[in-house]
Amino acid sequence: MGEILIRGAEVVVTMDGTRRELKGADLLLRDGQIAAVGPGLESTGEVVEAKGCVVTPGLVNTHHHLYQTLTRAVPGGQDALLFGWLQTLYPIWAKMGPEEIRVSAQVGLAELALTGCTTSSDHLYMYPNGARLEDTIHAAAELGLRFHPTRGAMSIGESDGGLPPDSLVEREDAILNDCIRVVDAFHDAGEGSMCRVGIAPCSPFSVSRELMRDAALLARDKGVMLHTHLAENDEDISYSLEQFGCRPGQYAEDLGWTGEDVWHAHCVKLDAGEIDLFARTKTGVAHCPCSNCRLGSGIAPVRQMRDAGVKVALGVDGSASNDAGSLIGEARMAMLLQRVQNGADAMAAREALEIATLGGAQVLGRPDCGVLAPGKRADVAIWDVSGLEAAGAWDPVAALVLCGTPKVKHLFVEGRQVVRDGQVVTIDLPRVIETQNRLAAKLMG
Ligand SMILES: [Zn+2]
Repeated sequence: MGEILIRGAEVVVTMDGTRRELKGADLLLRDGQIAAVGPGLESTGEVVEAKGCVVTPGLVNTHHHLYQTLTRAVPGGQDALLFGWLQTLYPIWAKMGPEEIRVSAQVGLAELALTGCTTSSDHLYMYPNGARLEDTIHAAAELGLRFHPTRGAMSIGESDGGLPPDSLVEREDAILNDCIRVVDAFHDAGEGSMCRVGIAPCSPFSVSRELMRDAALLARDKGVMLHTHLAENDEDISYSLEQFGCRPGQYAEDLGWTGEDVWHAHCVKLDAGEIDLFARTKTGVAHCPCSNCRLGSGIAPVRQMRDAGVKVALGVDGSASNDAGSLIGEARMAMLLQRVQNGADAMAAREALEIATLGGAQVLGRPDCGVLAPGKRADVAIWDVSGLEAAGAWDPVAALVLCGTPKVKHLFVEGRQVVRDGQVVTIDLPRVIETQNRLAAKLMG
């Protein structure tokens, strides 16, 4: 791979140790890495003009259910609370198969790419009609995003007193065997890895205590990360107290679900003791502000978590509970919600941007990403701030979060261009959207 010189940016936001912002700087990409950052760089390779643009590290999405892009704005789920919402959607999801999983993943990932995301995780916890985790892995590879798919699972179906229909749950031995299969086949632990697989039972109330414990043992044995939903809303806490006799943090700790190789989605209802537990154990949090609003779950105590030293990242969450997938939009919402809860000085635009980039890389265990500095991976978002959304803005960096939700002009992942002049260039996106709409129509019928 040759060199790419990103030249003459209005400002380069490095997210390095001192959070330097370099005015009028260039960025040189070589062999998938950042070779240099600073003014007056030269190259004989391709030149990308960045005049009027803010350059940031690529954003990192730490929670999604990509298949749900096929069930956005479903009438019965628009205003339902979590359990009713799930019961409306489960029968629709049960009709999906490999094509639905692959196409919906491309749609969700393309949407992320256009809103600045270079690395995304996904939480796929049902495998109907022959669907497999690799349906999403192939989709991400084609598009060119760095991908952290997690092998999710549900094992307690309706006939065992659970919520999902029996057709969407799996036997626990089969779940563990498939976790081993996908880790062995697709997980790359190396620096610059484009695919890292995690293990991710759907939630403490959709699998047994034994599976939670065995999943943690397996993940440690394989050296992969653990992910699930935790403490999402009040019902979640009540369920934990009634069924397990303890709060979610205690349950997680007892079963091996804390540590720097674990990240939990939502954590809206963590109490002070749990925040302390997460900080002490370096357990990460995927904060999903729009989804929490959409389902009326509440405002996660992000200010308190950050002050205590908890690693916090952003997630758009699945498109059945957002239903948008704008990652820069989540940064804006995270900032606004902390201000609703704690006052106007509770979170600056720059802190929201840091959570969206560096924060995500830290939660996913990627010291090679999230920073624009020599030796880091060449994951770069280039935002045009000369247009309508930021017209008249005095501070182009803060404008990314404070002004109207922007889309990227260019996006590079591992030095490869995924978005050029606002268009995805790695896949035929109009055709993918057409297929997606055909598949959605079939699910409606
Ligand atoms: Zn979720």
